[in-house]
Amino acid sequence: MNTNSSNMMALAPNTSKKRETVCIFGTGDFGRALGHKMIQCGYHVVYGSRSTQISNLIPKDAEVLSHAEAAQKAAIIIIAIQRQHYNFLTPLAEILRGKVVVDISNNLKLNQYPESNAEYLAQLLPGARVVKAFNTVSAWALQSGALDASRQVFVCGDDTEAKEMVMNIVRALGLTPLDQGSLLAAQEIENYPLQLFPMWKFPIFLSLGLTVFFFFYCLALDVIYTYIYENNNFSFFIAMTIPNRVCPVVALILLGLVYLPGVLAAIIQLYRGTKYRRFPDWLDKWMLCRKQLGLIALAFASLHAVFTLASPLRSFVKWRNAKPIISQALNNQTEPLDTTNAWLSDSYLALGIIGFFFFVLVGITSLPSVSNSVNWREFRFVQSKLGYLTLILCTAHTLVYGGKWFLSPSAYKWYLPNIYMLSLVVPCAVLVVKFVLIFPCVDKPLTRIRQGWERNPKSSE
Ligand code: NAP
Repeated sequence: MNTNSSNMMALAPNTSKKRETVCIFGTGDFGRALGHKMIQCGYHVVYGSRSTQISNLIPKDAEVLSHAEAAQKAAIIIIAIQRQHYNFLTPLAEILRGKVVVDISNNLKLNQYPESNAEYLAQLLPGARVVKAFNTVSAWALQSGALDASRQVFVCGDDTEAKEMVMNIVRALGLTPLDQGSLLAAQEIENYPLQLFPMWKFPIFLSLGLTVFFFFYCLALDVIYTYIYENNNFSFFIAMTIPNRVCPVVALILLGLVYLPGVLAAIIQLYRGTKYRRFPDWLDKWMLCRKQLGLIALAFASLHAVFTLASPLRSFVKWRNAKPIISQALNNQTEPLDTTNAWLSDSYLALGIIGFFFFVLVGITSLPSVSNSVNWREFRFVQSKLGYLTLILCTAHTLVYGGKWFLSPSAYKWYLPNIYMLSLVVPCAVLVVKFVLIFPCVDKPLTRIRQGWERNPKSSE
């Protein structure tokens, strides 16, 4: 209840002042929700409808008239009607001449029509000042209070004054107008509500693909191989052991993939001798989803931490730890402490803990609420410098943990490398190239290129 009321307050900042009359065509879900909110904010609302009968769903204090009568009462007409019914507006073209007509419509599919709904409306009403707005806000959000993302209202239109009038209404409703330019932007704005986590698709599919691949890789080497050649039934590894191997491996590879496009971009810029030529599309897209790749990597690393903390509770681990103690007791011997092993286990744990700490720090800084409170230099410091430090620590954690197996022939079951070796390929490649890139003889020309210098200015055409 409280949340709703506070949101309602945020959406109704100033109700004392009486504002102008606004006309809304259509008394459907959105028309009613918007009208209700506008009345709360002090506007006088006139509905243009096919039926002038007032039902109790229509907000109190609103008038309901025919389309033509309603349009004459206001300078701003909001069309809360689906695009497929827009042809009813053609006979009203003269009445709507010079008026600000707001298109709020959405489609059912991406790029459903050759032109945007707003451009179609402008074609139907050549004399009207068409503005696109409100399509990213839902009727539900208007009624119950918007969340931060749905508070943003993208506005576009060719008439600056008309756009400003609509943006004033948006502000008065407690929403945030974002000017997107001319009506050409309308198609993109109409596609926006249809997109489902667009930046997350590639990282999610990639991490799922890696998870499935490494799961079956471990299943083959740790369960099937041991069953066939060692006659051990380790099928229970599926529940904890394999996930706790797959999670860190996927996390490390994804973390490497966050920094790989940066070094590839540097190599391309050095090769071309200019920063003024576009990167290939695949690299552009890859760079845009680095934050999502990093956050998914952090989720996998967190799972690895939880699995590891829960490990001592496992009966297999208890049995494996008790075995050498019992055999020492039976043989009446005490094995001396192997300090090399103690060093190795303490080191990889320490590297893992510190690496995970920095990983969390970098992940937190990428959240909008945190990144908005730091300046660009601070953001770059955390994302780049601390990010690389995280990559170094996590790579070292894996190297120290798995290093002892890399040269042992028993690690190559079916001539396949251990999964920890595979996980190191991408991060090690990134770190080696990055190391080369920070040499002054490479770093200097790269910095100059990034500051605008060109090796051959004419070749950049
Ligand atoms: P709706 O509930 O179906 O209402 C549409 C209204 O259009 C009807 O109530 C009707 O109003 C009018 N209408 C229907 N057929 C008509 C025809 N043949 N000729 C003239 N008018 C006709 O739809 P809605 O959910 O309010 O959505 C309206 C528009 O807002 C759509 O373009 C939608 O994409 C957009 N939108 C909706 C939401 C949302 O959350 N619902 C969010 C953003 C954008 P009368 O009976 O009064 O004539």
